[in-house]
This record gives sequence, C-alpha cells and structure tokens, in this order.
Amino acid sequence: MNDCLFCRIAEGDIPAELIYRDKDLLAFRDINPQAPLHVLIIPRKHIARVEDLDSADTELAGKMILAAKKIAKEQGLKTGYRLVFNNGPDAGQEVQHIHLHLMGGRRFHWPAG
Ligand code: AMP
Ligand code: ZN
Repeated sequence: MNDCLFCRIAEGDIPAELIYRDKDLLAFRDINPQAPLHVLIIPRKHIARVEDLDSADTELAGKMILAAKKIAKEQGLKTGYRLVFNNGPDAGQEVQHIHLHLMGGRRFHWPAG
C-alpha cells in the first residue's frame, strides 16, 4: 500500500476538501490553514521534492502554477496571493510529495519566516 499521504488523497483513500481536479493535478484545502484561503496543489504523480523534478516534468510544474492562478481568480483573490514550495528540511517540508501552497486573503510579510 502506498503510504504517501498525498498519493492517498489523490487516490481518494483519505478525504480532503477538493477544490480543483484534472487529469494531472488535484487541489484541496490545507487541513491547518495559514491564511483565509490556503490550498495545496499537487500532481497525481508521486514526486517527493522539487529536486526530483526533471525536464520531463516541465509541463507538469508549469500546470501547477497555472492551476494556482485559476483557483486564485475563482476564489476572488483580487489583491494578491502567495505561492510557496517548501523543499527539504530547512524549508520545513513535512509531506514528501511535492505541493504548491496557494495562500490568500490576508497580507503577507517579506522576508518569509
Ligand atoms: P509542507 O510543510 O510544505 O510539507 O506542508 C504540508 C502541508 O500539508 C501543511 O500545511 C499541512 O497542514 C498540510 N496537511 C497535512 N496533512 C493534510 C491533510 N490530510 N489534508 C490537507 N492538508 C494536510
Ligand atoms: Zn505521493
């Protein structure tokens, strides 16, 4: 059995509040939101970290960003939003299945903590 949490969500074994899906991607609400809108965009394909992406994944990685843009528009984030890939321990990556955080609905600080 696949013990990757986000693969299991993609397979429908673990429930999530889906807000977008297509043949390559899924987006669902973060269980511990850090902003009024906090969505995770994942590929259905298991890729653990950003550095595991290769040139064959160029289109997939681009689709993740375009999906974020589409969701942000649908959710009415007119004044901006933040996109984040946490990659590896120093960045605090907890789930080893690549995911793009889309956060909006409040002001964000820079530099990020
Ligand atoms: P990261 O630290 O970048 O690996 O982020 C992992 C994110 O996954 C965190 O923001 C968690 O709140 C979120 N998360 C963990 N488990 C679930 C779950 N079952 N459903 C939705 N989001 C989750
Ligand atoms: Zn996975």
